[in-house]
Amino acid sequence: MMKGMIRTALGGAAVMVLAACGSAAPGGGGGSPTPLTFTVPLYDAQGQEVARATLTQAGRDTVHLAVDATRLPAGTHGTHLHEAGRCEPPQFTTAGGHLNPLARKHGLRNPQGPHLGDLPNLVVGANGQGHMEARILASLRPGQPPIFDVDGTALVVHAGADDMVTDPSGNSGARIACAVIATPAVGS
Ligand code: ZN
Repeated sequence: MMKGMIRTALGGAAVMVLAACGSAAPGGGGGSPTPLTFTVPLYDAQGQEVARATLTQAGRDTVHLAVDATRLPAGTHGTHLHEAGRCEPPQFTTAGGHLNPLARKHGLRNPQGPHLGDLPNLVVGANGQGHMEARILASLRPGQPPIFDVDGTALVVHAGADDMVTDPSGNSGARIACAVIATPAVGS
């Protein structure tokens, strides 16, 4: 079913979406990094595409994220990177908690925060559309702060607003849409 691409947890496993850059040798001449960018769909509990997210390597340790909603419910939605690249509807609990490799508390306004995966709210209008951008201190490349860690990463949109301070999820409610950004230890 997966064309034999499953690999065990060996770190390099998560490079799948970035196959084109696989030959970039670390420790080379320190040349400018090749721009990396890709887009993933977010699906709701019924399996309908409701938004798209584009991730771009914007600097050595910075990833630019843009989320564009096309048919989400109107309102303000907490949006986070979650720790596992598994989006199983209808509840998406398989995505785990927030991406939090530094063991911080939740919230962009939490003095003990934030999680690496904490993001601004996504505001959606009556037409189902909305846009949010953020910079994440991480890397799409292997071996650096871990979006492409062994268990992958998901982007999750919640039903309600993130209050930006309440651990562990800002009281943002149920998970209503999910995108796999990196799959767990699978290449394809
Ligand atoms: Zn969080």
